Amino acid sequence: MENCLFCKIVDGQIPATVVLQDADWLAFEDIGPKAPVHVLVIPKRHLADIGELGADPEAAAAVVAGIGAVAKQLGLSSYRTVFNTGAEAGQSVFHVHAHVLSGRSLGWPPG
Ligand code: AMP
Ligand code: ZN
Repeated sequence: MENCLFCKIVDGQIPATVVLQDADWLAFEDIGPKAPVHVLVIPKRHLADIGELGADPEAAAAVVAGIGAVAKQLGLSSYRTVFNTGAEAGQSVFHVHAHVLSGRSLGWPPG
């Protein structure tokens, strides 16, 4: 999709530090990490949020598989996966992405 930051990362128009990928998903380091490990996992196909992702079972399965693959690759035994949905919940990029956070103690419930 035009003017989508994460589509531009998928297309290679904007650089990112890629952690892992396959045909349908891409995992890259968050530019403003909130934890020692902060990776974003996205479908390569443009979908705006988790609602759209849920309506596309193939892309949904790909993202979940990507999260698992990243955790395995980085040897994460504990991690948190967050999908912010909507501006009020903190979503600032409207190409769905899972935040994978690890490497420090993560409080629960979140603030
Ligand atoms: P959210 O606020 O949940 O939509 O998350 C968007 C995330 O994208 C934030 O954690 C940002 O730090 C991250 N971000 C923004 N621009 C880039 C970029 N060019 N490369 C990597 N991560 C980015
Ligand atoms: Zn996009």
